[in-house]
Amino acid sequence: MITREAILELDRLDPLALQRDAFALPRDKVYLDGNSLGALPRAAAVRVQDTVQQQWGVDLISSWNRHGWIDLPQAVGEKIAPLVGAAPGQVICADSISVNLFKLLSVVSMLRPERPVVLSAADNFPTDLYMVQGLSQLLGEQKLRLVQVAEAEITDALNERVAAVLLSHVNFRTGRILPMAEITAATQTAGALSIWDLAHSAGAMPVELDACQVDFAVGCGYKYFNGGPGAPAWVYAAERHQDAVQQPLCGWMGHRDPFVFDPDYEAAAGMLQYLCGTPPVLSMAALDAALDLFADIDMQALRAKSLALGTLFLELLHKTELAAELRLLSPPESELRGSQLAFSHPQAYGLVQAWIERGVVADFREPDVLRVGFSPLYNSYGDIWQALEALREVMAQREHLDPRWQQRQKVT
Ligand SMILES: *Cc1c(COP(=O)(O)O)cnc(C)c1O
Repeated sequence: MITREAILELDRLDPLALQRDAFALPRDKVYLDGNSLGALPRAAAVRVQDTVQQQWGVDLISSWNRHGWIDLPQAVGEKIAPLVGAAPGQVICADSISVNLFKLLSVVSMLRPERPVVLSAADNFPTDLYMVQGLSQLLGEQKLRLVQVAEAEITDALNERVAAVLLSHVNFRTGRILPMAEITAATQTAGALSIWDLAHSAGAMPVELDACQVDFAVGCGYKYFNGGPGAPAWVYAAERHQDAVQQPLCGWMGHRDPFVFDPDYEAAAGMLQYLCGTPPVLSMAALDAALDLFADIDMQALRAKSLALGTLFLELLHKTELAAELRLLSPPESELRGSQLAFSHPQAYGLVQAWIERGVVADFREPDVLRVGFSPLYNSYGDIWQALEALREVMAQREHLDPRWQQRQKVT
């Protein structure tokens, strides 16, 4: 029997519990949607305020040098690098995942000119698939095309026509982790290159890009890194690939000397060539401040708490009659899951909306998926207790069947 007291005791013993105060979370909400938009770190709010008022307002254009605006993409990249197991000089912060994928897909196509196939999983995050489709239209199918197979069949589908394998480390719907080391090794044995999308793993669990000998990776700034809405993304290129070819979005910020204003492009060395245009300084400043929260975090401890939160959620769920109605889409084995749980339910949208009305924020994904995300830096065991109490109420009162939830909002 899990009691409320036992849960409060878990919070008292939690080595990460103190981190919650670093976030400006509303007291009356349980926020289980950090896998979509991380909560606001107090330090990010202060930093943005200062960047606006003092740096932009008073120091104006001198801030590019004086406050290091021009170096932010690299500085932020170097803060992300250790969190994804990358040695320095291999990560830079820029653009969105989608745009960074365009750069990487172009690069793999240049590195493997005889191989036209980009292999991906059919239920990969759609933007990843779209970016391959778009580049395929531009270059022609002879040069590049997308082949989608089931997640479990990726390694079987490898052959001498595959240039690259593009996968999400953690599936955005089910939360299933793919074995990065194993798939990367098989990919390279087949002569192809690996591109990993870390949107749902970076900041939520330990990631070992260098140790897995990954070729390329991208990740998000606004999910588990808490960089704020529309925070810039990041891109990783293993050192061995950095100067082999030039990515095609070669804007001036990736030039070896942008302020010489040379009419001819010459790529900067290393990761700098992955920059395109001017960095979004306000957003990048927020992300930079948010990342400082990870400076002293033991990612193994973070992972342990993430799994404990998910396990507690399932345990409490199984004590209710809801367990029969919600079908678990995530792997039942906790070590195969990222930091989220997904369930299918015919009224999943209504459930999420009614739950939100009761102060518990989770999200809905088409067609019938309820996602619950755990951010170990600010979620407590008490949050999970409260979330389940609220869900019990929703179901008992049948609030999820309210006709108001027939209409879906633009962002679910
Ligand atoms: C959130 C997410 C993205 C977002 O891509 P952007 O272009 O940065 O908006 C991409 N891939 C995955 C797997 C995601 O979960």
